[in-house]
Amino acid sequence: MTTASGAAAKSKSSRRHFLSAALIGLSPKTDKPIQGGFADTMMPLGHRLRDRVLGVTFQETVRVPLVIVGAGIAGLSAAWHLDKRGFRDFVLLEMDRQAGGNSKWGENEVSAYPWAAHYLPVPSKEVKLVHELMEELGVYHDGHWEERHLCHSPQERLYLHGRWQEGLEPEVAATKADRTQYKRFHDQMREFEQSGEWVIPVDNGKRTRRELDQLSMADWMRRNGYDSPYLHWLVDYSCRDDYGARSHQTSAWAGIHYFAARGQQEDKGPLTWPEGNGWIAGRLIRKLDRYLRTETMVVRIRPNGTKWRVLTPKTTYETDMVIFAAPAFLLPYIMEDPPRLKADYSPWLTANLTLDRWPEENASNVAWDNVIYNSPGLGYVVATHQSLKTRHDRTVWTYYWALADGVAKDNRRLLAEKDWTYWKELILGDLSRAHPDIRQCVSRIDIMRMGHAMVRPSVGFLFSPQREALARQTGSFVLANSDVSGFSIFEEAQYRGVQAAEKSLRRIGR
Ligand SMILES: Cc1cc2nc3c(=O)[nH]c(=O)nc-3n(C[C@H](O)[C@H](O)[C@H](O)COP(=O)(O)OP(=O)(O)OC[C@H]3O[C@@H](n4cnc5c(N)ncnc54)[C@H](O)[C@@H]3O)c2cc1C
Repeated sequence: MTTASGAAAKSKSSRRHFLSAALIGLSPKTDKPIQGGFADTMMPLGHRLRDRVLGVTFQETVRVPLVIVGAGIAGLSAAWHLDKRGFRDFVLLEMDRQAGGNSKWGENEVSAYPWAAHYLPVPSKEVKLVHELMEELGVYHDGHWEERHLCHSPQERLYLHGRWQEGLEPEVAATKADRTQYKRFHDQMREFEQSGEWVIPVDNGKRTRRELDQLSMADWMRRNGYDSPYLHWLVDYSCRDDYGARSHQTSAWAGIHYFAARGQQEDKGPLTWPEGNGWIAGRLIRKLDRYLRTETMVVRIRPNGTKWRVLTPKTTYETDMVIFAAPAFLLPYIMEDPPRLKADYSPWLTANLTLDRWPEENASNVAWDNVIYNSPGLGYVVATHQSLKTRHDRTVWTYYWALADGVAKDNRRLLAEKDWTYWKELILGDLSRAHPDIRQCVSRIDIMRMGHAMVRPSVGFLFSPQREALARQTGSFVLANSDVSGFSIFEEAQYRGVQAAEKSLRRIGR
């Protein structure tokens, strides 16, 4: 029999055991070593920018007509467009060692893998810029999408009530009433789709239903008589997946956009690669390498008459025109009197898990995208899924988690304060619900913390006069990050970058 004091002593000693095991990277349950750490090397630098403690040594001054700040998809797309239009007198400054921003990727001995963005829905013909780029990269040619870039089957599955089902719409245990609501919801989304309001890029749509930006997606569902818990879960999951926000935090207009804008796309895909959208970023980087200056953080931007001075720790760029493709929340830390975009940003965490063997369940059942019902996380994608090899003993899974519950600021603090072991245990705990033997499979977990990962389309933000004005803004300083669109997807980032490049060419008179 265990006495109360004996239980306390045992619990203390097992806690000690757990901590010492964790410190040397051992899981207490299996003694299988799990290596890893944080992969977000830019976090301390970002905090030094916030705290305004970054020094500038002024070693050289470079005169250049145009500076692009930030080499995520928006900045790379601005550079891509300028280069195509024959304008080659610019630099693209990126603070990270590797360009790509949220479309960054990594690689180990098993596979390449994404750090964030992992797919691009097959674009409809109306999304012209994406078509143009995909044609240039050989993904689309002679009117066809290259099969090897389209997601192979099985594409997605959901773990619900102790078993996996195909697709993400909960089927297991759904009642007739649930199914009736699914159908009504999808019919309503098709009506929205045909209205011409919910399009990509978002600025090209009609704007007749602005009032839908004034209430949350959860409220809109309730007002429209949707009470199926499964449907609510699906919509909430979709808001967390695309916007990093719960459905009660998301504008109904944006929530509808998720279902109604992408419905226009052809019924196949999505386009994906082992390294996710890093495949696209990598190809853009190769094309644009000569303009790119990595490990070059912009710490100040100052007016210089009608021109600008862009300061980095070692070089000052004197320029006529700035395309600011880094997120707008950074502007107050960089400029005296910046254009204001009052936006919320969603904190996220991703993790790449290297598996030395697959979980017990037959590896061939695993889909590309695997989601666990009612999980705080968003599930995982399998990096080796697109490989043509029929059998992989080892694999890499990318685990996604939008920290959407509660207050974003508190979640950011949690991201900064908690150590790797804390997050590793939460991730393994979540995955073990569907894969009880996951701890015996994983040998490494690398974690990326992103405090301000993506702009959040909170209620009232998309149609706020401030956002709309910034989206139309011209002049010698233009914003280009996808946050100007109000939500962050590849197509919006590319559109913003190309728009900013066009505005610059007009201003420079070329
Ligand atoms: C976890 C996650 C998953 C996602 N999945 C998808 C997906 O599957 N499909 C999809 O379409 N979209 C996805 N997205 C959205 C993604 O944000 C966009 O697709 C796109 O990559 C955003 O590009 P961007 O250029 O607008 O911004 P960012 O990627 O944020 O690029 C900004 C760049 O500016 C740089 N920078 C910042 N400050 C400075 C400075 N002071 N000086 C110099 N450089 C600076 C940054 O390092 C970064 O490279 C995802 C986002 C996240 C966070």
